[in-house]
Amino acid sequence: MGEMMKAAVFVSEGNLVVKDVPVPQITKGDQVLIEVEACSICGTDVHITAVPPGYIATPNTILGHEFVGYVRAKGELVDQVEIGQRVVVNPNNYCGKCVYCKKNLPNQCENIEALGIDYDGAFAKYCVVSDKVVYPIAKDVDAGVAACAEPLACVVNGINKADVKPGDSAVVVGAGPIGLMIAMMLKSAGVDKLFILETAPVRAAFAENLKLGRVINPITEKAGEIVTEATGIGADFVFDVTGSQMVSCVDMVRKGGTVVLFGVNKMARKEIAQCEITTKEISVKGTWLANATFPQAVSIIESGVIDLSKLITATYPLEQIHEGLELLRKGEAVKVIIKP
Ligand SMILES: [Zn+2]
Ligand SMILES: [Zn+2]
Repeated sequence: MGEMMKAAVFVSEGNLVVKDVPVPQITKGDQVLIEVEACSICGTDVHITAVPPGYIATPNTILGHEFVGYVRAKGELVDQVEIGQRVVVNPNNYCGKCVYCKKNLPNQCENIEALGIDYDGAFAKYCVVSDKVVYPIAKDVDAGVAACAEPLACVVNGINKADVKPGDSAVVVGAGPIGLMIAMMLKSAGVDKLFILETAPVRAAFAENLKLGRVINPITEKAGEIVTEATGIGADFVFDVTGSQMVSCVDMVRKGGTVVLFGVNKMARKEIAQCEITTKEISVKGTWLANATFPQAVSIIESGVIDLSKLITATYPLEQIHEGLELLRKGEAVKVIIKP
């Protein structure tokens, strides 16, 4: 038996266990072995470990898919990455051969493999991935911030779908890490009237402190009226990060405006008056994962255009991953970083 390491393994429903497992080995020529420096807990990890689970992962898989680390070994076919290189990873490995990959939509790949969900991820000392999905990142970037490259790449994919211009107005529904990253990106793009909707008190207060825009509690305040009053006609763009608020998004967007749908809630089934979309000439766009947006995300992080360190509210060693998950489950944290 080879060398062992500690890892957070999703064993069965509601059962995430930190235990010793063998260090993964390179088995294909295109793979690299990465020593994990930091791995961020994603909302998806919270859903996977919930009872009943809100997202399905393969039992006995090491979780963790938002990470940064150093290349420590590589297969014989790897020629673009050097040993010692610091990298971030697109956890959604694509085949490069199917009809969607050929249409340059790797996020829709028919053979997509999700690291830390379908196969072993990065809540561990080491992780093996294909060289196709690694992206170099500067060594002076804070490790926790670098670990946020994956969610930021997803955010960039969504922002790319909206033709945002300076002076535009926007609403972001949901002030979790993705919502706040969207708000930061919109602000840096010159959006001047920005509204953030959030019902959880801790997250609302956190968003308030970031001073990105007006924070509204849609339960106690009339969000639609506030947005219409401030903009005169409704917002140019509305981003839903909850996966369930499309009806109110269509209500808050102006005629000819755009609604971008980020969040996934497989249970959401709200009735919508289709004529609203038709007669207001609204564009409704879905956005899923990162689509060739890692280079853009890495350069945003390296240049410091937005400061993601403001979103990191806790850092734990791997042994205390359950504390991090609990904080997120209670809505008392934004980004939690695990250092194995
Ligand atoms: Zn994630
Ligand atoms: Zn494919």
